[in-house]
Amino acid sequence: MSADLINAAERAAIQRLARALALPAFEPGWVWLAGAGPGDPGLITALGLHAVSRADVVLYDALVNKTLLELARPGAELIYAGKRAGKRSCKQSDISRTLVSLARKGKCVLRLKGGDPFVFGRGAEEALSLARAQVPFRIVPGVTAGIGGLAYAGIPATHRDTNHVVTFLTGHGADGKLPDLDWTSISRGSPTIVLYMARKYAGEIAAKLMAAGRDTDEAAAVISNASFPDQTVRITTLRELGAAAAESTAPAMLVVGENVKLHASLDWLGALAGKTLNPEPLSHTKISDAG
Ligand code: SAH
Repeated sequence: MSADLINAAERAAIQRLARALALPAFEPGWVWLAGAGPGDPGLITALGLHAVSRADVVLYDALVNKTLLELARPGAELIYAGKRAGKRSCKQSDISRTLVSLARKGKCVLRLKGGDPFVFGRGAEEALSLARAQVPFRIVPGVTAGIGGLAYAGIPATHRDTNHVVTFLTGHGADGKLPDLDWTSISRGSPTIVLYMARKYAGEIAAKLMAAGRDTDEAAAVISNASFPDQTVRITTLRELGAAAAESTAPAMLVVGENVKLHASLDWLGALAGKTLNPEPLSHTKISDAG
């Protein structure tokens, strides 16, 4: 990993920014559990950036954009702690133990996780281990893929003409199986459903939603590598969601709901690449509540 993506003056500028924003000092013996955002390195928060630039050790996940690691100070230790299929894998208990032991050695320890650390990312488990070990810690929220990833696909998580509720769910339980959820309540209660880790069971999930009354032609989307340069957005229907997910690459967010249609108007990344946006994507939508 090269340490010269930014020079000393630019590094000092990050410190000036931290001072201007009165950001807290990263004290030795502390663990900061920070979100890196979904992919685009620009989506890290100022606090996250400050933490990367000050840390002695950074333990990072597979989904963290590696460009961010190049902002670590020269000599900082970078430890891969990812758990993705097919790659060298770390046990959760080992990660928690490493965090505790590095903090006890008096290091400034940054645990950098994809998206937001407290959204489907085991950040809470790691924080609980720190609390149990009485290691002081700070949580630095991040932009979660279920919001920021959708925004990069031109799909707002809410719009008052389409949904007053949004549900975030994971398609992957602790045992690796589809969690046993109340699909009827989700189907009836949430016009928009945003799914993490749901590629594998997308067909099964779609079938459960349709069995609970959702329209087979309802709009759905699969967003792969959201906010990375190779982002792809597949617009489909609930009926075809399983097939679209099977064709997609990981990581992917799935979205079900009328607001997916707003992509036709709000695909700002597509517009940058020359696509013409549709000014009236919801012209056939029944608006139940003009709010
Ligand atoms: N804490 C993370 C989520 C971790 S779970 C967050 O807040 O975003 C991992 C899942 O997040 C992936 O399986 C995928 O469903 C989703 N995900 C994370 N980053 C993504 C990205 N850039 N594009 C698409 N999906 C992403």
